[in-house]
Amino acid sequence: MARDIVIWPHKVLTSATKPVTDFGPGLEKLLDEMLESMREAKGIGIAANQVGESLRVALVGREDGTVFEIVNPQVLERSGKVTWEEGCLSVPDQWEKVQRYEKVKVRYQDKTGQWHEVAAEGKLAHVFQHEIDHLDGHVFVDYLSGLKRSLIQERMKKLQKTLKRKKD
Ligand SMILES: [Zn+2]
Repeated sequence: MARDIVIWPHKVLTSATKPVTDFGPGLEKLLDEMLESMREAKGIGIAANQVGESLRVALVGREDGTVFEIVNPQVLERSGKVTWEEGCLSVPDQWEKVQRYEKVKVRYQDKTGQWHEVAAEGKLAHVFQHEIDHLDGHVFVDYLSGLKRSLIQERMKKLQKTLKRKKD
């Protein structure tokens, strides 16, 4: 079942997540729920803390619609610089230019605990960095000016009120 996406700012989004040590059925269930939540929200990536679980788990979407399931990821290498317009499911409808590395090499575990390495570039590298940032407790708005960030924070407050009203 899809879970509600946590809206920024929320402590679960601004705190670093905990490494995964239990590669059991609970992890598989979480990954399934994350995928449903991501698809429902039409996202191209999602981190576990965006559905309220402070665990080092994320999904990174490929162009063909399939996803990398990344557990305990670490960025091993970074090179080049590129700027993309970036958005986030936890900061709905806000798009801002963010500079990231053009290429990254990432080491991660799959849901069985096996280690893998992947080299990504362009948009895919951007999504890897965005999701790994989430796991470290960072959201893309952290890269914006204080003024832009407070404007977005005001909009998110209004959005929270609207969402709450819909639920009540
Ligand atoms: Zn995000």
